[in-house]
Amino acid sequence: MMLPLCVPFASRCLVPRRCLSAAASQLYDVVISGGGMVGTAMACALGSDPHLSHKRILLLEAGQKKASEPLPEQYSNRVSSITPGSATLLASFGAWDHICAMRLKPFKRMQVWDACSDALITFDKEGMEDMGYIIENDVITAALTCQLDALSDRVKVLYRSRAVGYTWPAPYSSAEGSPFVKIHLADGQSLHTRLLIGADGQNSTVRTAAGINNIQWSYNHVAVVATLQLSESTENNVAWQRFLPTGPIALLPLSDTWSSLVWSTSPDHASELLRMDDESFVDAVNSAFWNSEHHSEFISSAGSLLHSAVSLLSPSGSSTRQLPPSVSCLGDKSRAAFPLGLGHTTEYIRRRVALIGDAAHKVHPLAGQGVNMGFGDVASLVHHLSRAAFDGQDLGSTKHLFEYETERQRQNLPLMATIDVLKRLYNTKQPPVVLLRTLGLQVTNALPPLKEKIMEFASK
Ligand SMILES: Cc1cc2nc3c(=O)[nH]c(=O)nc-3n(C[C@H](O)[C@H](O)[C@H](O)COP(=O)(O)OP(=O)(O)OC[C@H]3O[C@@H](n4cnc5c(N)ncnc54)[C@H](O)[C@@H]3O)c2cc1C
Repeated sequence: MMLPLCVPFASRCLVPRRCLSAAASQLYDVVISGGGMVGTAMACALGSDPHLSHKRILLLEAGQKKASEPLPEQYSNRVSSITPGSATLLASFGAWDHICAMRLKPFKRMQVWDACSDALITFDKEGMEDMGYIIENDVITAALTCQLDALSDRVKVLYRSRAVGYTWPAPYSSAEGSPFVKIHLADGQSLHTRLLIGADGQNSTVRTAAGINNIQWSYNHVAVVATLQLSESTENNVAWQRFLPTGPIALLPLSDTWSSLVWSTSPDHASELLRMDDESFVDAVNSAFWNSEHHSEFISSAGSLLHSAVSLLSPSGSSTRQLPPSVSCLGDKSRAAFPLGLGHTTEYIRRRVALIGDAAHKVHPLAGQGVNMGFGDVASLVHHLSRAAFDGQDLGSTKHLFEYETERQRQNLPLMATIDVLKRLYNTKQPPVVLLRTLGLQVTNALPPLKEKIMEFASK
């Protein structure tokens, strides 16, 4: 089929007209815009699928290629808690082996507790199976890039290539215009694709240019991250999270002696935490995990009464409280802060367009689900595209894209709603709310089948 070199611009196109003349059009079956963790995983998954082996696939990434070797000795301050379900996806196309050859820390248990009472919940699996893995984002990206290099005959990658505008396909009824998506790059080139996958993060230009509505709000909260050394070497295989009235603080294991901090708090407090000297910062972290300044006598008594009652009724359900490790020093220049909010697009797809990862949904990090949801999108979209290719269908048609959207929204929406409710429920010191959540947490902790359901839901 002949492609027109120059198609008229859609009204939302961001590229200057002069770029059009320089364009040399090429047609791909799939173009992924955005090579973060989710977009690169998508490229690997598509490149490894046997039904898509004859397809032309391109990954566009605005940034530079990230070198995988050598790994710096100091752990990065950006880490993700990765679920067993995500690990299975990464293993399915060979990236997990690269991660294992670099570094990761499995955790066997999670302890979550309320700073306003003694209520706590623990999660672990029988036989001390891995509950999840703490992995530096740079390690995940390096492992994916390494795997992508091995797929270079199946997937083309253009680094330092920013998509700056899009011309959408002409309607089916129109005899004029390209039936494909045209992508305009910052360097003046352009290319065509049967399917454009927007993996370009929370400020997605694919989403904006396609006019897809994004429902979003800021939590007026900032996550302060840091890499912390523990006072003593331990097995360090527990992920700790304490809900303070100002927001949750989490300590995630990296090795026997190092852990990663994610402390969500108000913007003013975050600025203060970033400004203080290292010693005061370490004191503030230890105090946030250990102090009992927010405890209420009345709520603690009600909680322990209920705890005794449920322990009698369900002795197997009560779990032992462990004490979190104390922190002794801060990794060099490891403090940083990120604003937090929620965002969800009303649609994940349009004709010849699909959104994945943070381009489609953004959540508070308190449940460690953001990139896991993105990897879930990858698994689902690849499954539907593979089936479409096997059936000889057009990859960009809405029929199977719609199946992807339905499948993912069914999974993502309840998870996002749960995270949002948790965030709000624990962001208050109001006694009736504290009492209710204390009782709720105690009862949930005492019911192993309910905890198993929660773990199953969150570990996909
Ligand atoms: C403090 C914190 C802690 C977190 N902890 C966890 C956790 O424990 N577990 C978890 O699952 N999630 C966690 N998350 C969420 C997770 O980090 C994100 O969900 C994830 O990084 C999103 O990945 P992405 O690839 O979708 O988007 P991004 O990482 O934003 O990648 C987008 C990519 O697209 C590229 N790009 C953008 N525009 C263009 C363009 N026009 N053309 C070409 N390329 C473009 C960018 O250069 C970038 O590489 C956390 C988030 C924060 C802030």
